[in-house]
Amino acid sequence: MRLVLKFGGTSVADIGRMRHVTSIVAREVQAGHQVAIVVSAMAGTTNQLVRWVEEASPMHDPREYDTVVSTGEQVTAGLMALLLQDHGLTARSWLGWQIPILTSALHAKARILGIEGKALVDSMMRGEVPVVAGFQGVAPDGRITTVGRGGSDTAAVALAAALKADRCDIYTDVDGVYTCDPRIVPAARKLHTISYEEMLEMASLGAKVLQTRSVELAMKEGVAVQVRSSFTESEGTMVVDESRVLESEVIRGVTYTRDEAKVSLFKLMDQPGISASLFGRLADAGINVDMIVQTNAGGDGRTDMTFTVTRSDAARTKAILGELKQTLGYDALDIRQDVSKISVVGLGMRSHVGVAKKMFETLADKKINIQVISTSEIKISVLIDDVYTELAVRSLHTAYGLDNGTPVL
Ligand code: ADP
Ligand code: ASP
Ligand code: MG
Repeated sequence: MRLVLKFGGTSVADIGRMRHVTSIVAREVQAGHQVAIVVSAMAGTTNQLVRWVEEASPMHDPREYDTVVSTGEQVTAGLMALLLQDHGLTARSWLGWQIPILTSALHAKARILGIEGKALVDSMMRGEVPVVAGFQGVAPDGRITTVGRGGSDTAAVALAAALKADRCDIYTDVDGVYTCDPRIVPAARKLHTISYEEMLEMASLGAKVLQTRSVELAMKEGVAVQVRSSFTESEGTMVVDESRVLESEVIRGVTYTRDEAKVSLFKLMDQPGISASLFGRLADAGINVDMIVQTNAGGDGRTDMTFTVTRSDAARTKAILGELKQTLGYDALDIRQDVSKISVVGLGMRSHVGVAKKMFETLADKKINIQVISTSEIKISVLIDDVYTELAVRSLHTAYGLDNGTPVL
């Protein structure tokens, strides 16, 4: 078999942890597999690099941001290659531009466009272990790019696709994908399998165990992904096609994110074209709008509109809405950061009624007010006051029968 193994920050946090990783790699090589590995920066390193960039220049040039923040992975790749050599394996490091991993020029959140896999395949054929620096690539103009926070997952899946690997193992600090973040819900249960669709929703709604783009890519390219721990031997979670999911709960997961800000416009003009100019301008500025609600017009030709944007886009959103004040004719603008989005995800929602009812009743029971609601075929999300995040998540986890030890619904 050909395997791509990805090791996240905590799995390579120090030389001792990296030495442990070499034994995992050696085990797979001894089992007769061809192995390529993808490494993250050592735990905390990327955050430190980002802080330095922000201290040096708050409105920084994203090309130089990438030059700085991509270095963490270079350090790990070199150290891992040395440790693997020390362990008796033939290994060398590969940086994004050396392979190359070609990306778009959208610095700090570039997309992987293609990977030239031949050199790595040749290397594996010779019995070597390529150690690839995750997170980084090279733009068409030759400059170094990074592919967004958590992007080593995507680098690993893209590499697995390019190398036609049989499986991509994502080694992290939890032993699989859980029904909820186990740091917040101690009763969370490990899933043996999860469908690409559910994993995609969970990742994009806050479960950062996999970067969203990595799941999208795995689904598109049919890459078999396993999430497992470098700290224990236990079997991980396989991300698979819907038809291969073993469990049958209606709801598979509960997620939360504090990444959004709530924007409210009061007494907006209620006439054709207003939403188009509002959301058109935000889209042109690359600002992603998520949940939207508009209240019923009160008969005075005015309406209120509430929507959410990514928290880091809040300041730009405010500036754009300021420019649009005349066009939209609103009275007041309010932007709040103290909100959190809670979601329940599950393919079973397609064929079961009452899922939304249970969510609303559970939150009402805890006296948690719902500010905005949005739904899709396999998820329901609500926006609530940030202080109730943990209470909401735990109550929903229990209400849907997901707590460890309760029978599967
Ligand atoms: P790495 O550095 O290995 O990439 P991350 O910190 O990016 O690791 O992702 C692993 C973390 O994801 C876990 O420590 C856990 O707190 C968090 N997480 C959030 N939601 C989930 C979930 N549903 N299942 C498992 N882990 C989750
Ligand atoms: N080191 C990068 C980050 O912390 C990429 C990754 O680990 O996936 O975001
Ligand atoms: Mg990660």
